[in-house]
Amino acid sequence: MTESLFPDHLSLDPGWTKDTIAVQAGRPARAAGAPINPPIILSSTYVHDASLEYGRDGNAGWGALEAALGALDGGRAVTFASGLAAATAIAALVPAGGTVVLPSVAYYGVRNVFDRLRSLGRLQLRIVAADDTDAVLGASEGADMVWVESIANPLIVVADVPAIAAGARQRGAITVVDATFATPLRQRPLDLGADIVLHSATKLIGGHSDLLLGAVVCKDPAHAELLVTYRHDHGSIPGALEAFLALRGLRTLAVRLDRAEASAAELARRLASHPHVARVNYPGLPGDPQHERASRVLPNGSGSMLSLEIDGTAEQTEAFLARLRLLTHATSLGGVESLIERRARYAGDAAIVGPTLCRLSVGIENVEDLWADLDGAMRAVLG
Ligand SMILES: *Cc1c(COP(=O)(O)O)cnc(C)c1O
Repeated sequence: MTESLFPDHLSLDPGWTKDTIAVQAGRPARAAGAPINPPIILSSTYVHDASLEYGRDGNAGWGALEAALGALDGGRAVTFASGLAAATAIAALVPAGGTVVLPSVAYYGVRNVFDRLRSLGRLQLRIVAADDTDAVLGASEGADMVWVESIANPLIVVADVPAIAAGARQRGAITVVDATFATPLRQRPLDLGADIVLHSATKLIGGHSDLLLGAVVCKDPAHAELLVTYRHDHGSIPGALEAFLALRGLRTLAVRLDRAEASAAELARRLASHPHVARVNYPGLPGDPQHERASRVLPNGSGSMLSLEIDGTAEQTEAFLARLRLLTHATSLGGVESLIERRARYAGDAAIVGPTLCRLSVGIENVEDLWADLDGAMRAVLG
């Protein structure tokens, strides 16, 4: 296995914090003359006879990234071509005819994957509000898998992962946590009782909006083995360059997230009392309905995502977004540059959010520049 090229994770100091592990894990073994970074191996085939014979079997770059992500989340990591490729592989763990509990507000692509499997007769779905822990647990009776997002799109709702994971386990279901917004630095779902963690490394882990990649981290090595086989057989493998870039991004995750999160908290505080803002959703805000739960399950910070509702019309909101010069009106999140988008432009989100709701992914620009851009554009359009 390619992982054995990166034995370093075995020698990580157990006293190191996650910030340090993010920098140090997944490096080649330390030896005189050895490179400190893993190589980018661009080869579709390898000389016979070895366990690594073809590009779908493995790649030294995936091995390095998996060693690092596994060390951070405390499990065995398997990387995929994208977050959705990873989600599709996890869905394949559900037995034929099985039942999955899915949040009513989930990443639309994940919802699509499960809706399609349901329409093909492969599995049953039970849709519940993820912030209603009793409803999630009620629905998990007799289910095979409970799927939650630790911090969910686009209303920035926080799930009670420890309570859900414990309750689901009692009822015989495994818990999958999409931890894309929280990252391993803000929550380790496997420590809180979950079985499987999903990261779209396209977002905060990669951090520079220049790649797509997904990762699954499993508590049970048997799940990881099934996912490795699935990846091999379905060809949903990450690119070698993407794996290298994701690991390079991971090295700076701690400083990027600290900065973006501090700015998100400050912007949320200021937006909450802005005359042209009707509502702000950010779990780190003391008045937010999610605040108490967030302080319990995300004690180190609520992340870099917030959403706001403009006190105006959909047209005024579009005009506000068009006027921004620093923030970009674009989808996706977690990069160094701040992005904002009006979510009701998606049919799926129009049903659950108001017409003026904007999701804001805070980057690492200076917070005063971000504020001047947001405040200036709102005043220019709304007076
Ligand atoms: C982006 C995203 C995904 C899908 O990941 P891709 O890398 O875009 O395929 C899944 N879950 C969440 C929460 C996301 O933000």
